[in-house]
Amino acid sequence: MFEEPGRDGGVRANGGKARTIAVTNQKGGVGKTTTAINLSACLASQGQRVLMVDMDPQGNATSGVGIERADISECVYDIMLGGADPRGVVRPGPLEGMEVLPSTLDLAAAEIELAAELSREIRLKAGLEHLQAGYDYIVIDCPPALGLLTINSLAAADETLIPLQTEYYALEGLVYLFRTVQRVKLHVNPGLSITGVLLTMFDVRTNLSRDVEVEVRREYPRLTMRTVIPRTVRLSEAPAYGKPIILYEPSSKGALAYTELAKEVVQSGEEGLGQGAGRADRFGGVEGGAAT
Ligand code: ATP
Ligand code: MG
Repeated sequence: MFEEPGRDGGVRANGGKARTIAVTNQKGGVGKTTTAINLSACLASQGQRVLMVDMDPQGNATSGVGIERADISECVYDIMLGGADPRGVVRPGPLEGMEVLPSTLDLAAAEIELAAELSREIRLKAGLEHLQAGYDYIVIDCPPALGLLTINSLAAADETLIPLQTEYYALEGLVYLFRTVQRVKLHVNPGLSITGVLLTMFDVRTNLSRDVEVEVRREYPRLTMRTVIPRTVRLSEAPAYGKPIILYEPSSKGALAYTELAKEVVQSGEEGLGQGAGRADRFGGVEGGAAT
């Protein structure tokens, strides 16, 4: 029986540093980038200072907020492997309070080049250290893989938020992600926790979506975020205009859902802070859990 890892989310005593959330899932197309962009934008619209980091060589988070990749000379690659000053790489975001650490295709080489480097798992963490004090939140968009780019993201993060597409086999593969989180926790980043599992692309018209939600909440009652992101055409259109949903269609269902998510994330941090630094490690059982 696979044991649900503890949510453990938001519990941190960061001493003025940004709360860093990696949006991860090795499955492709589950809503990681949509979540990274819109969570960042909604946090910023709620008065938080936010840095969104694009750790995916595909660069969807970069182009999705209207940054032309062709115009960028330096990206997160240059911070991890080129010794670039992170402050010089940060770009203005689509709204006040949000800035972006973009990715270019150079990042595609990082996976291979990092393999030969010392401290290869903590290159992003080291780069972000100089930026921490300037933000309340750092949101990292990860690629659909569990390689060194995702490991670097998890090593740099306080937490990971896991989007799960509301479809058949939604939970399949999640155990591998939990194991990766556990490995990073054991070897590189003992403080890493899980913000929660976020149901995305929920289709109100189908029984399937409801069935999947019931299953996910039954399997992971503590981990599953209260907020559910609906499937809406507006959410898929917005990146083509380089805008987060709250700018593209502020009154849409998608905008309301991501606004709720931002509130839930902020709230989980406040609840966590109340518990102080001596949090119980409820993450046991993941490493040895069955892969089913
Ligand atoms: P990848 O693994 O390739 O990085 P991803 O996990 O980042 O993908 P997204 O790019 O966010 O996933 O979403 C995949 C596709 O689904 C995109 O075309 C996106 O616009 C669309 N999409 C995401 N969320 C929604 C939603 N709630 N409603 C409708 N379309 C959505
Ligand atoms: Mg993506």
